[in-house]
Amino acid sequence: MALPVERAAITIPLVRELPRVISKRVRLPRRRASVAVAILAVVAVATAAAVGPLAMSRTAEGPTPAAGTADLVGAGPSTSGTASASPTGFDYASDRSASPQPTASPTVPTQTPTAEPSPSACVPAPYVACDTTEAPTALPSADPEATPFGLRVPILEYHRVKPFETETGYQVGLVVPPEVFAAQMDALRVAGWQTITMGQLGDDLRSGIEPVPKSFVVTLDDGYEDGYTYAYPILQKELFLATYFVIGSQIDKPGRLTVDELQTLFGAGNEIGNHSMSHEDMRYMPADRLVTETFGASAMIARDVGVWPQSFSYPAGFTGPAVISALSKCPGIETAVIQGGSKPETWPNRFGLPRIRVGPGTNPQDLVERMNRYLP
Ligand SMILES: [Zn+2]
Repeated sequence: MALPVERAAITIPLVRELPRVISKRVRLPRRRASVAVAILAVVAVATAAAVGPLAMSRTAEGPTPAAGTADLVGAGPSTSGTASASPTGFDYASDRSASPQPTASPTVPTQTPTAEPSPSACVPAPYVACDTTEAPTALPSADPEATPFGLRVPILEYHRVKPFETETGYQVGLVVPPEVFAAQMDALRVAGWQTITMGQLGDDLRSGIEPVPKSFVVTLDDGYEDGYTYAYPILQKELFLATYFVIGSQIDKPGRLTVDELQTLFGAGNEIGNHSMSHEDMRYMPADRLVTETFGASAMIARDVGVWPQSFSYPAGFTGPAVISALSKCPGIETAVIQGGSKPETWPNRFGLPRIRVGPGTNPQDLVERMNRYLP
């Protein structure tokens, strides 16, 4: 059975051709044939909406071999093309209003499209599109592929900033207590370091601009509420900004950042980045699922914050050619970060930028010394 994207690719040219064919064969005036086609198109869209999610859940079952995934990506739709086109082809069935401003009690889709997509979930066309901010078009760039321009801006990787006693189990290793985070940030400010966001770093890489000396990036993965409760006031005190990488399906869930909090963080100059829709390993996902994890999550964040994310963080840092291919078609995304790594920060390597993992045992002065090694 053809995948929904393939069906769409076949159906759209057919629909365009139908008025001419019908007027020729049935000898109807061309305008009347167009009306008939319009009705047919509505029926076709309704059928696709009913069948699409079923097809998607089938393709999502079980791991797909990497080679097959790569083939599917090659045959898949260009999301930037889809997004930059007008709302045509989108079914605005979201329960949100057209404005990116949420209502007083925001309703976030409860189903994750990874398991059982539903019309209320925010997933990309050809399933159901988000009622959201218009996607950005491709950004101009002065042929950065040809420019041997690189930066050495340390990117710090955090997950949880909260007291140890509030966490148990395997997550403990991801927790940095607020007083340790505060000491780390304070030591960096005293040493003359200042923050830029991942979005700013992406802009600088694209444009070949050197940020001010001793610039660094703070990233907080997973979109937990402690990023607002504990990390945000500490960052504010130091006049620092951060990039919050949030999981699309987890926004507004218990213990996670709410839409209001995301808007407050963004309004204060922080960046809200994309950390996928489901936070599952993306390496073996089929092409349509990768579109949901990249485009779908970005669209969801744009709906809540009003701006499309510029930056992406791979779940658990795992990536591969098919993932990067999907990401490169996601409107707005300039860069992606991994965990650890040592590749240079260049535009050609923008989808594999390395990070420094910071833990509760990272001594503030050791961190400063490690960061100073990035200086020329
Ligand atoms: Zn994560």
